[in-house]
This record gives sequence, C-alpha cells and structure tokens, in this order.
Amino acid sequence: MTYHSWLECTRGCGRKYSIYDIIYRCEDCGGLLDVEHNMAALKDDSAAGWKARFEQRAGSFAWPYNSGVWSKKEWVCPEIDIENVVSLGEGNSPLLHIEQLGERWGIPDLWIKQCGTNHTGSFKDLGMTVLVSVVKQMITDGKPIQAVACASTGDTSAAMAAYCATAGIPAIVFLPKGKVSTAQLVQPITHGAHVLALDTDFDGCMHIVQEVTADKSIYLANSMNSLRIEGQKTVAIEVTRQLGWQVPDWVIIPSGNLGNASALGRGFMMMYVLGLINRLPRIVAAQSANANPLYKSFKNGFEKYQPVDAKATLATAIQIGHPVSYERAVKVLKQFRGVVEQANEDELANAAAQADLTGLYTCPQTGVALAALRKLVKRGEIRRDDKVVVISTAHGLKFTGFKVGYHEKTLTDVISRHANPPLELPADYTAVRKAIDEVVAKA
Ligand SMILES: *Cc1c(COP(=O)(O)O)cnc(C)c1O
Ligand SMILES: [Zn+2]
Repeated sequence: MTYHSWLECTRGCGRKYSIYDIIYRCEDCGGLLDVEHNMAALKDDSAAGWKARFEQRAGSFAWPYNSGVWSKKEWVCPEIDIENVVSLGEGNSPLLHIEQLGERWGIPDLWIKQCGTNHTGSFKDLGMTVLVSVVKQMITDGKPIQAVACASTGDTSAAMAAYCATAGIPAIVFLPKGKVSTAQLVQPITHGAHVLALDTDFDGCMHIVQEVTADKSIYLANSMNSLRIEGQKTVAIEVTRQLGWQVPDWVIIPSGNLGNASALGRGFMMMYVLGLINRLPRIVAAQSANANPLYKSFKNGFEKYQPVDAKATLATAIQIGHPVSYERAVKVLKQFRGVVEQANEDELANAAAQADLTGLYTCPQTGVALAALRKLVKRGEIRRDDKVVVISTAHGLKFTGFKVGYHEKTLTDVISRHANPPLELPADYTAVRKAIDEVVAKA
C-alpha cells in the first residue's frame, strides 16, 4: 500500500479533494477541510518501527528529514517531491523540565515546549513549511499561483514571508494596523513581503483576505487551510518522543484562531490510532479574557457559540474574536476531555514575569497558558503529581515592549508584582558599593 493524503470535508458530507486543489471550504456544504491519510498504509509499519524511524531522523544530517516536521513526512505530506520541500530547519525545539517554577506552583512534573526557538520565533513555522512546500509543488506542476497571502496577528505573516522568500514566491500580508509588535511588523518587511496594514482588527483582516483569495491565483495561508495543521501536529509527536514516548496528563495551549489546539489533538490521535501511545492527554485551551469566545462557549457546554468583539490584550497573537477553527477545536476538546480557561491582563503578565525569574523568557501568549495552569492547579483540577506540558508558542524577544512595560510598570490593567527596574546611580564607587550591599542584603 502507498502513503497518501487528501482533503476531506469536516462536516461528514464525505466529499474529498486533492491536497493540490485550491480550495479551503467544501463546495457542497461549506465545511472546513481536513487532511486525511491512508491509515492502512501507515499501519503496515509497526509502532516500534515508526518510533525508531523518527528517533533516527531527528539526529541525522539528511535534509530535509532532520527537520522536526519532515522527519514525519509520511504522516504529514507523503506525496510531495523532496526537491520541492521548503525547510528552514523547523521543529526539534527543546522540551524543558521547569522544576523550579513547578515546585513553586505545586506541580513539580512541569515541562515547557519551546516552540519560540523556530527560525521566525514561533510555532507558525511548523505549518508554514508544509503549506509553502505544497505551493512550490503546485507551481512546479504548472498551477497559475501568483502569490501567497494571509491575515495575521504577527507570527503567521513572519513565517509566511520567510518561507516564501526562501522559495522565491511573492507574499502578501494583511496586518491590523498598530496591533502587532515592532518585531512582528518588521519580519515580513525584511523578507520583501507586500505588507498591507489595515485600519481594522485581525477578524477584519481575515475577512478581506478571504475575499482576495477567492481568486485562485492568490493562495490562502491562514490556518483554515489545513495543510498548516498537518505540520503543527508534529509538536504532539515531538513532545511525546522527548518524554521517552510517555503521554503527559495535560497539554496547555495558548489559543486564538484554534488551529494549534486542533493540530495537537490530531497529532496525539494519530499516534493513538497507530499504536505509538495507549492513552490520550487532556487538553487545555487557554484564552485571554479579552478575547474569549471559546471560553464562553465551554462555559455553556459548547451548546451555544457566539463570536465576540476581541478587546485589546497584551496577548496580541490571540486577540481573535471569531476563530476560524472553532468547530475543529470543539471536536478535539470533546475527544480529549478538554478544558478551556482564561487569564486577564494582570494574571498573564505576572505569570510570565514569574516564569522569566526562573530563567525562561516567555511571550504574553505563553503567559496566558501559565496563568491558566495556576488556576487549574489551585482549583485541584490539575493534581500535584500530574505531568503537564505547556506549549510556549513564541519567543519572548518578539515582545520587548511587553517586557519593558512590565518592568517600568506602565502596562494597562497590570500590577507589576515582580518588576525589576534598573537602579540609576552616579558613577561613584561609594554610592555603587552601598547600592550593592543593599541589594545583596535584600536577596
Ligand atoms: C498564532 C499564535 C497563537 C494562537 O494559535 P491559534 O492556532 O491561532 O489558536 C498563540 N500564540 C502565538 C505566539 C501565536 O503566534
Ligand atoms: Zn462538505
């Protein structure tokens, strides 16, 4: 049997499409499309065989199989020609046991998956390598694609611009004006993307990009495009491998458009079906209280879904009121006995600051996940001996304004309980010595 994947309607109408079709919703019923795989072919190999193959490739020099995504090519995108893979060495990010913070918060078996170490500084690279590779394959095969486009809260556009630049494909980025960090704005600019800063929020940009990409010459790179989810699901496999093929009890994910929570669910489910693991973790989707449509829906048992107007939040990458992958995420949360928790500005900023004090450097979105973790531990829902993995979605260096504001105590709705501003002193030995004696005495 041969490895094979295709797009299939998520609403169960059964309609299938090729992964090379330029289509994002089912033509019959309007449902989102998921990538599905020939599982029978994948089952020809044993679970032990797959584990050994993934282990071996992770440590090899064989491009592109040494990438954290392409080491799982058969599970992700089996049909693509290797020459068309556009890889920037994504994945294989560290999984750190953060004992000090764990002890302090009463949950010693605490781990953090550092997706911010990817090339463009966020997990978005994992999905973008798959999407841009498929586009390169389509262009090679003669499809008239002129550019790739996305709406972004900052990290998607950074990743899309870098991978498109690597492949020599034009990129168009729609950003909400004034709502992304300086680092995130400058990333696509440096890669030569056409950056359109619109006077709206993310949801407004999403609306426009869907209109623009209705014309099939411009390819849509948002996560309603499930090729990205296929790449992002490899985080679940990586985490499990890094734990010696043990399944954590909980995985906590900062959640906005809900693509990543869906992706991790798919990764765990695929390992379960193929026998690499024999149980599933519970999944926590963590939202900013200022952009919490999934949290609200969870509170009424997913009976009723209502988009919200996303208010300003420090966690700008998840400031989304109308998440595209809502249906996908609810399905995953039901399968994984999921929980949705939220964090306000004060909680997310102080959680991030506490984590930084133990040597991490967390982005505000990861602050939301850490704050959600604390709440669940305090409520006794997560128990002391549970193994917990927090997905850190981006590098803190993209959010310098957040860090500076915290330590200068200028953030709105935040009391900076762990601020550590620099001491300003005259260039005078006696004054300096006295100051040092004081700080050392305090420590
Ligand atoms: C995109 C992003 C998220 C949210 O992921 P979704 O798939 O939209 O839920 C969280 N954190 C960071 C840093 C991101 O860039
Ligand atoms: Zn359909």
